[in-house]
Amino acid sequence: MKIQDVRVFIVNGGKAHALLLKQGAASEGGSWLSETVIANPMSNYPEYTDRRSSWLGMGGRVIVQIIADNGIEGLGESTGGMATASIIHEHIRRILIGKDPRDIEKLWDMMFKITLPYGRKGIPIMAVSAVDLALWDLVSKARSEPLYMSLGGATKDKVQAYVTGNESKLIKDRGYMGQKLAMPYGPSSGWEGMKRNAALVAETREILGPDMEIMLDCYMAWNVDYTIRMAELVAPYRVKWIEETLPPDDYAGYAEINRKVTSSAIATGEHEYTRYGYKQLIDCGAAQILQPDICWVGGVSEAKKICAMASAAHLPVIPHAGGLQPWALHLVFSQVNIPYAEFAYIHGADRTNFDPVFEGVQLPKDGWFGLPEEIGAGIRLREGALDLLDELK
Ligand SMILES: [Mg+2]
Repeated sequence: MKIQDVRVFIVNGGKAHALLLKQGAASEGGSWLSETVIANPMSNYPEYTDRRSSWLGMGGRVIVQIIADNGIEGLGESTGGMATASIIHEHIRRILIGKDPRDIEKLWDMMFKITLPYGRKGIPIMAVSAVDLALWDLVSKARSEPLYMSLGGATKDKVQAYVTGNESKLIKDRGYMGQKLAMPYGPSSGWEGMKRNAALVAETREILGPDMEIMLDCYMAWNVDYTIRMAELVAPYRVKWIEETLPPDDYAGYAEINRKVTSSAIATGEHEYTRYGYKQLIDCGAAQILQPDICWVGGVSEAKKICAMASAAHLPVIPHAGGLQPWALHLVFSQVNIPYAEFAYIHGADRTNFDPVFEGVQLPKDGWFGLPEEIGAGIRLREGALDLLDELK
């Protein structure tokens, strides 16, 4: 089997949103993720505090389609829009054509090495991730088995999801393990913001009752002192973990909060890249829970290695967006030390998620994901999806 073509597409955000509106799957105003008050690294600049869409420059979804000479196709995805797509199209593509797609270890190593002069983290590794996911999808399709089988088989037959989002009333009683709140305020909102953060957690505990778990997501917005003080304020409400409170480069800060905060676990890794970044997190004792995003960290190949490293350090892995990304769900099922899958209602918990590009994306049922049944990652391009995709030529 040889790679015959590598096609790269950017999802046209305007067209995709128009389709979501037509389906009744989104509102005119856009997603709560980008349009509500969530503490973020730019919160200290007043003109950027209200919504992350005012500054986020991640670019659109990037879709990779790898086609083998026997006609089998693999699909992968990342973010980063034109920047990511260009790296794949202008650079990575040329070392893939003619290679055997089953040689994923070698191809990953080559992609990492050719991007090394400008890579290692961020957009170049997002590009590597998208290609890696497409290779795994292709190879498991060629073997006529679900992707988790190609990754070593199933370690469980169902996995419980938790929901990220602040709609407690809509999320409770749906069978989920818990709810992860997007914390609205950080240090620039002072004591008033701390009180409001704590009040949100108290109100959530009141609504969810004593048994569901509560987690806090802080999107790199806090600092060491703020994290320690917030952890003390929310301790009475039993918070399972506090996530990504510090900027990713503050390894010493993570080590300090992980030592000092005892009422909740410290989780991080969403914006960390490759096994090398994770080695730093593990070596310095940065967290009790590691959260690689397979579309960013280097794909399934790299996430699998990180799971092995975490396992040797007796740490659980709970991948960022693990129940939202089809490839990630297969990783979740294939690894012993992944206990939960993250889910979110992207356009509100009163709507079901609808992917305008892919068909076959699995959704949780009564709070749980079942073992995927279809071959590969289980997805295909929707009929008409190409109308939403701008291909790099
Ligand atoms: Mg997060």
